[in-house]
Amino acid sequence: MLKDQFDDVVLLERQARESFLKKHGFTFPIVFSPAAIKILEKVGAWEAIRAERSEFFGVVLHKKLVGKEFEFKSYEEGVYSHWRNHIVACLYQRLIEEDIEIHFEANMVDIDFQGNLCREAKLGELPFDLLLGADGINSQTRRLMAQAHPDFAEEDFTLTLLDNWYAYRLPAQGALREKFGGGDRFYASNVFVDNLLEYPAEKFRVVTTSMKQPAEEISILIKHGADLDLQRVKELNKVFFGAFVDSQETLQEAWEQGYAGKFEQVQAPTFRLHNVLLVGDAAHGFESTGDLINLGLASIESFFEIFNRHASLAEALKEYDETVGDCLRYYAGFSLRRSQEKIGFEVASIEFASRLGLANRHPTFFGIYVEDFEIRKYMRAYKRDVRTGRLLLIGLPTVLLSLAGWLWLQ
Ligand SMILES: Cc1cc2nc3c(=O)[nH]c(=O)nc-3n(C[C@H](O)[C@H](O)[C@H](O)COP(=O)(O)OP(=O)(O)OC[C@H]3O[C@@H](n4cnc5c(N)ncnc54)[C@H](O)[C@@H]3O)c2cc1C
Repeated sequence: MLKDQFDDVVLLERQARESFLKKHGFTFPIVFSPAAIKILEKVGAWEAIRAERSEFFGVVLHKKLVGKEFEFKSYEEGVYSHWRNHIVACLYQRLIEEDIEIHFEANMVDIDFQGNLCREAKLGELPFDLLLGADGINSQTRRLMAQAHPDFAEEDFTLTLLDNWYAYRLPAQGALREKFGGGDRFYASNVFVDNLLEYPAEKFRVVTTSMKQPAEEISILIKHGADLDLQRVKELNKVFFGAFVDSQETLQEAWEQGYAGKFEQVQAPTFRLHNVLLVGDAAHGFESTGDLINLGLASIESFFEIFNRHASLAEALKEYDETVGDCLRYYAGFSLRRSQEKIGFEVASIEFASRLGLANRHPTFFGIYVEDFEIRKYMRAYKRDVRTGRLLLIGLPTVLLSLAGWLWLQ
């Protein structure tokens, strides 16, 4: 998007080309919001990305209440899921077509924030007008910014471990397909929000997503406490899925193809120092429920709009950080409470207000998938909805009780 505004655009990627384009055994489904699709259209990548996709997407939340499992469904029409390998390959193809310089196995040694210079091990000193730190949740740019920032202490920038995850996939067959891909649940995510009934003290949560990529299959994401080792997670996985597969060998084989990772939460009090800007997970990484990629993409659109409105880059960066940046930091605060499972009241109150036509749907329920999504506008409405929800569920009963008390005293 910014290619035509600068003389040169250079991409520094830490991985080797082969591992960057590697096809993993498991790829999680990605659902692009309309706002994210607009950006992919703008950069000319959408046609190729949409050529491979899986139809229909929805979320079925499974929650146990007084020993019985209830299902809460939230469907969104006209959206599709995609998968990482294909998206990365399409975006890479666009870089090649646009003749954008990309250096794999890059090793960024240092950034001189005052002097607008960065140093790469092989290329030496690289002067820049704008450096976008899009280097993911373990961002080195963020680490260097934290050390150099004059207005914030280094420990104001944090990366906190939330939970671990293990991901693998099973073919959509037999009882497994029936349970997780049957009927109107097919091509949907099933989210189990409770620990196993048999082992309630061990944090073990399952998300299954049925999709075609291109064969029908069930992607499985296990979210588990960092205190559980992988052997234990495998045992618990057998308790959950054992009954749905033809044989234990099938489960074993599929499990071995999977891979492990961490859910982490980024906190960055600012995304900017001089002409360096953190974007994507580097700026506001959190445990995603499908919203992280979309917010990252939408933030780039907002930056582009602000950048084109200002004659000075410094002013554009300042405005972006103080408006869009603030909104993303607010959202990251919400997502942290979501990971800590502390949003029950907020979701209930906003959903209640939304039923009465007084609020939008909660972000957890496809809120960011509205056609005209724009971060600043959306976040203003969301903050208002939080207040409206609180007022309805706390304020209104309080007023009614006070009124009843007053009438009774009369
Ligand atoms: C299991 C799992 C499931 C997920 N599911 C979803 C989902 O369903 N929907 C959703 O929206 N999001 C999901 N996410 C989150 C999503 O993957 C991220 O939001 C997204 O990839 C972030 O994009 P990014 O470009 O900011 O960072 P990344 O995709 O992490 O890219 C950063 C790039 O920078 C490179 N790099 C790192 N350090 C350096 C360095 N020092 N120098 C040069 N290059 C460097 C990396 O090699 C990488 O290529 C999921 C994440 C995980 C782990």
